[in-house]
Amino acid sequence: MLVVMRQDATHDQIQGVVRAVEARGFKAHPIPGALRTAIGITGNRGAVDRPVFESLPGVLEIIPVTHAYKLVSREVKPEDTVVRVGDVAVGGPEFVIAAGPCAVESLEQILIVAHKVKAAGARLLRGGAFKPRTSPYTFQGLGEEGLRMLAAAREETGLPVVTEALDAESVDLVERHADAIQVGARNMQNFSLLKRCGKARKPVLLKRGLAATLEEFLMSAEYILAEGNYQVILCERGVRTFSDFSRNTLDLAVVPAVKALSHLPIFVDPSHGTGRRDKVGPMSRGAAAVGADGLIVEVHHDPDTALSDGAQSLTPDMFAALVGELRQIAPVLGRRL
Ligand code: PEP
Ligand code: MN
Repeated sequence: MLVVMRQDATHDQIQGVVRAVEARGFKAHPIPGALRTAIGITGNRGAVDRPVFESLPGVLEIIPVTHAYKLVSREVKPEDTVVRVGDVAVGGPEFVIAAGPCAVESLEQILIVAHKVKAAGARLLRGGAFKPRTSPYTFQGLGEEGLRMLAAAREETGLPVVTEALDAESVDLVERHADAIQVGARNMQNFSLLKRCGKARKPVLLKRGLAATLEEFLMSAEYILAEGNYQVILCERGVRTFSDFSRNTLDLAVVPAVKALSHLPIFVDPSHGTGRRDKVGPMSRGAAAVGADGLIVEVHHDPDTALSDGAQSLTPDMFAALVGELRQIAPVLGRRL
């Protein structure tokens, strides 16, 4: 349920509603809007005593929220959410590109790639230190040492860092060293991890699961918001289908579907979405065209020797050419890059 406050409601009146919600054992989520504040109520099992809230000072109206997800819904917050990763605003007028290697392999590697992607126009640096690999025998990432290398690359380039946390322990480390916490596709329904991310002070990039419906995707984001972290960027990274020409099927249609239902920004990952570097450029252009707020792209200075995902990693030159194309496309769509 949503308590919509009058435009002239005072801070004390808003706090009064919050206290009334909490006194009933529910959780109150004040959501400031352009014109007025709304207060989302979660944690109630059945209907909330509507007349009680209607009569509180400063309350304009009570709106039942029809979707299973509440806080991520546009019903609750009609305006787009802008998420800040370091000093970069995601979900505003800028089309934001995060780029970097699949995995941090060495200090030298991450510094080379970070400088290259920064020069080409990336605004965020990606790179995995904790890698969720299908095989336990392949490179698992450098762990905390990798996080320190990412932090060093941020020092040198100024690019805020987004990197994956695999479990609750790695969230502690990622939260300390990075600017945004990535939750990978395989962890989209790891509910204890989502709850932990909801308590984090850093924004979360939540990837869609390999076989997740839109509703499941939004419910996973809801777990994070329900714990109090409203800074979530969704990310479409491809789903499993019968396609035999690409690693996954990049579901670009989910972008306008998310935009209709949710105020959260959404990125597209054309690297995992296709698995082949020759398909990354076309799908990136498509992602911009369908209204994505940005991209997360794998780039490696020597993809053929990469320890993971080399086949889908762009070379720095390919990445620079792609950014050049996106710079031509973005203004047509009313965006800046
Ligand atoms: C990654 O970004 O390197 C990654 C493992 O992504 P996903 O969780 O989408 O497979
Ligand atoms: Mn990868």
